[in-house]
Amino acid sequence: MHTEHVDAEQLLRHVWGYPAFRGQQRAVIDHVAGGGDALVLMPTGGGKSLCFQIPALLRDGLAIVVSPLIALMQDQVAALRELGLRAAYLNSTLDAEQSRQVQAQARRGELDLLYLAPERLLGESGLRLLDQCRIALFAIDEAHCVSQWGHDFRPEYGQLSLLRERWPEVPRVALTATADVPTREEIAERLLLQPRAFVSSFDRPNIRYRIAEKRDARAQLLQFIRDEHAGDCGVVYALSRNSVEEIARQLAAHGIDALPYHAGMPAATRAAHLRRFLDDDGVVMVATIAFGMGIDKPDVRFVAHIDMPRSIEGYFQETGRAGRDGAPAQAWMAYGLADVVQQRRLIELSDADEAYKRLAGAKLDSMLALAEAADCRRVRLLAYFGEAAEPCGNCDNCLQPPELVDATEAAQKLLSAVYRCRQASGTSFAATHIIDVLRGKVTDKVQRFGHERLSTFGIGADLGEQDWRSLLRQLAAQHLIAVDATHFNVLHLTDGSRDVLRGHKRIALKKLDPRAARRRRAPAAAASALDGDAQALFEALRSWRGDTARAHAVPAYVVFPDATLQAIAQARPRSLDALREISGVGDKKLERYGDALLALIAER
Ligand code: ADP
Ligand code: ZN
Repeated sequence: MHTEHVDAEQLLRHVWGYPAFRGQQRAVIDHVAGGGDALVLMPTGGGKSLCFQIPALLRDGLAIVVSPLIALMQDQVAALRELGLRAAYLNSTLDAEQSRQVQAQARRGELDLLYLAPERLLGESGLRLLDQCRIALFAIDEAHCVSQWGHDFRPEYGQLSLLRERWPEVPRVALTATADVPTREEIAERLLLQPRAFVSSFDRPNIRYRIAEKRDARAQLLQFIRDEHAGDCGVVYALSRNSVEEIARQLAAHGIDALPYHAGMPAATRAAHLRRFLDDDGVVMVATIAFGMGIDKPDVRFVAHIDMPRSIEGYFQETGRAGRDGAPAQAWMAYGLADVVQQRRLIELSDADEAYKRLAGAKLDSMLALAEAADCRRVRLLAYFGEAAEPCGNCDNCLQPPELVDATEAAQKLLSAVYRCRQASGTSFAATHIIDVLRGKVTDKVQRFGHERLSTFGIGADLGEQDWRSLLRQLAAQHLIAVDATHFNVLHLTDGSRDVLRGHKRIALKKLDPRAARRRRAPAAAASALDGDAQALFEALRSWRGDTARAHAVPAYVVFPDATLQAIAQARPRSLDALREISGVGDKKLERYGDALLALIAER
């Protein structure tokens, strides 16, 4: 790039075709282009990439972009090349000859941006290459991976502190969409020298958060997709590989274009599924959390969790993959007692040290509090990241505030039943039996232990089984009762139980409403506001985009995002100058696609 005559504004307009910077972009760009270190916290879809791509063009030399997921660098580089920029990547998908070529280009100063996985960068040949180049800046994407305590720790990231030791004079920008305050401090401490922090609001106002009580999770999921997201692109997260496979099969059997994705699949199948997800409209990816980091697909309309993530950071990051394009999207989760038990168990069984387990336990408790919340989910989410907010009007609890009933007495009955059963029989029992006792059901097991003679037998007949389960889950989430996952899920009292039994702690329970699931249905899907003619043109543009993307072997959204095609369909520009005015149409794309677009518009 000839940097003398261009400024950030011009690059934004001519290369990217955008009229204005968003939020903190301009401030970050000025700071980094001026040689400063920056820590950038911006929500997914906020526009982090420009924060290093523009300084890369403004500064002399080669910008090094560290990104953790090899397979996904490809799309970012493809998108930059579509814009006419000189970008390349180095990773294990290149053969020796291709890799030599890229390195030679870098040495000759023919590249503006080079994407590298951290292990590649830190290897001997990577460091040697860097020594031979003039480096404009380092950008470290997904910087939270450096945090030992974080949910995505990658050991290679820890070694990136070497960069500031070896190249102290080169500016560094660390970017992430998810980091609580301690994680931020850790990023700054390990990666940066004298960082300035640029913290944007983490709010994703277009995402509607919903957490449903889990009954038959798979049936609930199917209903959610059918009723609210037919034909939409989405991601479903499940904990185990088995359930990933089963859910994908089940959804496919119901006519949904669903594919599985997990680390245990053959690499080629996994790559093929990823390609389908990226390139086609309307694929639902059913995946373990191995899937998703670095995926920039802008039109994911929903993210569903069938198992609860183990921390709010994880939840926020995974749900954040929905709606990057700013159009309405939903984050939906089914949550039940099993999630509490399973996640606590995973922590207990891990061979990490005590300090780690304590931290993991605290993170899980915050996640549980979010899941149990009866007030605005967004307020809680943002508070976790240190941000104050008002109730949002776009989460389940805001849209339909749950009715709370005092359940202190019911909780005391439940805890007493646990206590009495154990006292009478010298052994502990699991939820099903305790609930049978409370509701006065004379089962074989009840008779075998003579529990129909207990004073607590039948004292809870006024509540349904679901109510009891829901209460139990809430108590377990707050450590007011313990579920022993290593021993048939039997229930134990805890120190906290005593406070409830003595009346020192009041319990509120969300009133169960069997119709709630149906009434909560809301038209959140992107109802595009195009009229008939514009809609027809939009469809034509989409189909042209599909052909073009295939011809160039890039994902459709790399050619143009939906929002740009919609704006074209609406405005019907009749000249190249008019087309240039559309957000997302830069010089290179105008040159490459302008005539084809005008021809399409003229036909209709
Ligand atoms: P992030 O990495 O923060 O998730 P991206 O950098 O991928 O977000 O940007 C998200 C989308 O927003 C991309 O399609 C990008 O081109 C677009 N975008 C970024 N900055 C602007 C801007 N100033 N004006 C319009 N669109 C923008
Ligand atoms: Zn809300």
